[in-house]
Amino acid sequence: MRMSELQFDLIRREVAALQGKSAFYKKKYEGIDVGSLLSREDFEKLPFISKEDLRDAYPMGLAAVPQEQIVRIHSTSGTTGIPVVIPYTAKDVEDFAIIMERCLRYAGVTKEDIVHITPGYGLNSSGIGFQAGVERLGAMALPIGPGNTDKQLKMMMDVGSTAIGATASYALVLAEEIAKRGIRDKIKLRTGLIGSERCGQKMRERIRNELGIEYHELYGLTEIYGPGVAVSCKHDCGMHYWDDYFYAEIIDPVTGKVLPDGETGELVFTTLHKEGAPLIRYRTHDLTRIIPGDCPCGSRYPRIDTILGRTDDMVKIKGVGIFPGQVDCMLAEIPLASSEFRMVVDRDAGKDVCLLEVEIVPGADPEDAETILRRAFKQKMGIYVEVKAFPVGTLPRSEGKTKRVIDKREY
Ligand SMILES: [Zn+2]
Repeated sequence: MRMSELQFDLIRREVAALQGKSAFYKKKYEGIDVGSLLSREDFEKLPFISKEDLRDAYPMGLAAVPQEQIVRIHSTSGTTGIPVVIPYTAKDVEDFAIIMERCLRYAGVTKEDIVHITPGYGLNSSGIGFQAGVERLGAMALPIGPGNTDKQLKMMMDVGSTAIGATASYALVLAEEIAKRGIRDKIKLRTGLIGSERCGQKMRERIRNELGIEYHELYGLTEIYGPGVAVSCKHDCGMHYWDDYFYAEIIDPVTGKVLPDGETGELVFTTLHKEGAPLIRYRTHDLTRIIPGDCPCGSRYPRIDTILGRTDDMVKIKGVGIFPGQVDCMLAEIPLASSEFRMVVDRDAGKDVCLLEVEIVPGADPEDAETILRRAFKQKMGIYVEVKAFPVGTLPRSEGKTKRVIDKREY
């Protein structure tokens, strides 16, 4: 996306100021004359910031303001090691609520709505970010958090939730439970902001139909405020992101070269207004593209496509790199296949073997489905895998993110 004059002006001033007030950037830009940042080309020479850089700054090394100006911190889960801590100033907290409110409006939420918030509260930025947006909009928050499906459904029926925020996996868990209990006619949900993981067309259709909601895809990451960075409108063709708050680039994940609009690569964000922890050229590891042209909804905000996967989700089987998102796209074209699948990768006599487990729609013949899926996989990915078909509801479900690849190989 071509950088606007206003964006460039904000970034230039921010970069110049940061070197003076942030130890993190002082070190990052050592030996670089950031004061002479005169063009977009100069900007593209600035080094990227990686998740490792943020981990190295643990606990408070990212702070670009004195501690008395920090009013809150959030943190990533740290499942892969040291957590990343993001400090927020009062203005950051307000901006976070503003962008989340915009997302809720794009999803059709109004003051009349009761919003069932299932993302986690606490250090995680999801629940609290959602809630701040709901309250700013003037709707009613039901801050239930994740888990305890019995209570979720009871409150949903008794209080009458009309909108929901959830991960795709948890939305599917709730949809299946509602069907199982035969309580669909007691559920008043009409719209949902569904996010934080890759979700294929089939899963999306199931959530939409089985929960009876408009499906709005929500994107965000704690490093950049939290949820609310981008959302899909009612036309469901990519997600609008707020270019008055972020500058987005798509890069080749291997070479780091900036790619033209329309090409798929790694999403890189630069924040335009963050005070507590501004990020310049932060590599998200999410694979997407900038969608050229205008959205039919008439919004002036540009769009990124549905997240295809993460650069680090790629699994190498028989020397071929495969993203779970590609398998999702393949299944979308096969009517016998339902939404859920996983790949179990192992090594047998020194060779990679992969078993693709897929749930198939009721009534479909498992043997037929296995043959079709085996052929399709070979055609799309170029390698043979074994396929096993299962009825809907067999594969494990998750309240967070569903694990699509089980890699049992020892290296
Ligand atoms: Zn739109």
